[in-house]
Amino acid sequence: ELAEAHLRAIEALNPRLNAYVTLHAERTLDAARESDARKERGALEGIPLGLKDLFCTEGVRTTAGSKILGDFVPPYESTVTAKLKAAGAVSLGKLNLDEFAMGSTNSSSAHGPTINPWSPGNRKLVPGGSSGASAAAVAARLAPGTMATDTGGSIRQPAAFCGVAGIKPTYGRVSRWGIIAYASSLDQAGPMARTVEDCAILLREMAGHDAKDSTSADVPVPDFAAACGRSVKGMRIGVPAEYRLEGLSPEIARVWDQGLEWLKEAGAQIVPISLPHTKHALATYYIVAPAEASSNLARYDGVRYGLRVAGQGDGLNDLYERSRAAGFGAEVRRRILIGTYVLSAGYYEAYYLKAQKLRALIRRDFEQAWESCDAILTPATPTAAFALDDQPSDPVTMYLNDVFTVTANLAGIPGISVPAGLSAEGLPLGLQILGRPFEEETLFAAGAALE
Ligand code: GLN
Repeated sequence: ELAEAHLRAIEALNPRLNAYVTLHAERTLDAARESDARKERGALEGIPLGLKDLFCTEGVRTTAGSKILGDFVPPYESTVTAKLKAAGAVSLGKLNLDEFAMGSTNSSSAHGPTINPWSPGNRKLVPGGSSGASAAAVAARLAPGTMATDTGGSIRQPAAFCGVAGIKPTYGRVSRWGIIAYASSLDQAGPMARTVEDCAILLREMAGHDAKDSTSADVPVPDFAAACGRSVKGMRIGVPAEYRLEGLSPEIARVWDQGLEWLKEAGAQIVPISLPHTKHALATYYIVAPAEASSNLARYDGVRYGLRVAGQGDGLNDLYERSRAAGFGAEVRRRILIGTYVLSAGYYEAYYLKAQKLRALIRRDFEQAWESCDAILTPATPTAAFALDDQPSDPVTMYLNDVFTVTANLAGIPGISVPAGLSAEGLPLGLQILGRPFEEETLFAAGAALE
């Protein structure tokens, strides 16, 4: 019934929202029936979920929102989706995203943009990105929960734009095996759902050590949902001075202050902190992420996967050039160029190496902050969702969207985005809570207290 109800909702709303890019109703219903008949019930038995189209799914087309993957059908299943399946979850289909998860609007997808379900009247708002459709699907009730990934904010920013909850776990908490790579030292998968507790339930099933991902951590997975009702009495909440940016929307500032007030009322202690290298975070991220991306995307050569464009009498280099030129969109090409540039001899030291040093300083900022606080409260985004046709045309302005979220990926720490209020226009606004590595429970406790 659950699967059927969601498939009906998708049929009605997906043509307008463009959230799902691949549906397989028969397969979904078969899996739901199988789950119904099962005697042993998993923790997610029969729960339908939507999957960002970056998770490889055996026998189901996986595109990463790119033409270059064409109609690639993976012969294997990602560890995360295999674990969800084993827990009884049923896939509803694959969700749209910015091409190769590069973007903050979900409009760089080869499948066309996803629309934010909060869009008023004829104005089309972006759902955020890159996991824009994972957030939009939850907000529009096209799935009770979805799987997403976050390299620099791709779970937390769209969650905020669509008024849902989403967590980027600690780097290493969730296996990256079978997830199409963007920037391997920053990528983490995480859940999106209507409530903080639902995210906790989903994360428990996704997390855990995996021998197939050498960066996955061998640490116990706690019962995250149990942390959701935990008191925040005595919890020290840090407020970083450097996040009070000039030009921060007054609405966001108000929601931030209100969040601090709520946590104080619940018994938390508010402490001012400093993260002095914050001002370098965006520049650092936009060197490290494209550098890793340029290397990860080298495998799309027109030979091994997806799209192949060859002319008569072409040599191997022509085949690479034609396939890559036809397959990659503008933003992906821009990042390959930036990444190749900062890694090239002569520039490596000036850019890449310097970015690595700054990354270490940003990580150290947090380590020092944890001496005086247990969690940090910040806005999730500098503004509410903006209109699709009113996006900054200059990529650097667009990158400013990630100002509050990239630090967590650079430092490897967990971050949750929780809906915290509405703008004057009636659009959702989100707050972000950051915590120590592998202390997601603190985020769940504080996040649930904000709900
Ligand atoms: N907007 C950021 C970028 O474009 C983050 C994307 C992500 O987290 N995948 O890189």
